Amino acid sequence: MTLGTDWAVAWVRRAAEVIAEHRVELITLDREIGDGDHGENLDRGFTAVLPKLDALPGDSTPGDVLKVVATTLISTVGGASGPLFGTAYLKASGAIAGRAEIDATGLVELLTAARDGVVLRGKAEAGDKTMIDAWTPAVDAAAAAAESGSDEREVLEAAAAAAEAGAVATESLVAHKGRASYLGERAVGHRDPGAQSSALILRAAVEAAR
Ligand code: ADP
Ligand code: MG
Ligand code: MG
Repeated sequence: MTLGTDWAVAWVRRAAEVIAEHRVELITLDREIGDGDHGENLDRGFTAVLPKLDALPGDSTPGDVLKVVATTLISTVGGASGPLFGTAYLKASGAIAGRAEIDATGLVELLTAARDGVVLRGKAEAGDKTMIDAWTPAVDAAAAAAESGSDEREVLEAAAAAAEAGAVATESLVAHKGRASYLGERAVGHRDPGAQSSALILRAAVEAAR
């Protein structure tokens, strides 16, 4: 089994659904250690992508789908997360450009490029209490799964589970990037909203592969 354009489109649609379902939860997390707009920001961005999926040409590749997400998030989502997720999708799109089907190794390339895009844009390191703390464990788990011969679905499952654990683990961290960094020790005990939304988006990728 490899994953094609149908999967990429289903991933984006499912991501839009879960972000909408968790909109209030993400707002609440961001209210605790930021400015309370993360759920609204991402919901606006993913909602704006949906009509563009319907307008994609019939011969679009998975990379084309991710590119539409990138440009839409960059142009519609304000704040830190728009350019960060936008760059993630743009680099992911570039990593798989021209391929009709994505295999397990391709998924690792996609996820690695997405994570590297966030780092390029935001300069956060592991442990800074940002979305990187979901993405980096996800990349590492996906690479380990692919290395041990897992199929595409198992690679995505490994990535999503690691991102979820990574998001939970941000609760004990002091923030060194983004608005939460202004809070110092007071951010401890709160989960990073961008790590949580990243985990939701990666879980959507698994659900789209069913
Ligand atoms: P804003 O902080 O501008 O209101 P959002 O609330 O939409 O933007 O997004 C906040 C999230 O962005 C944080 O929870 C964090 O995960 C992520 N973030 C902020 N700055 C950085 C950075 N430099 N690198 C990686 N992620 C970051
Ligand atoms: Mg915010
Ligand atoms: Mg904001």
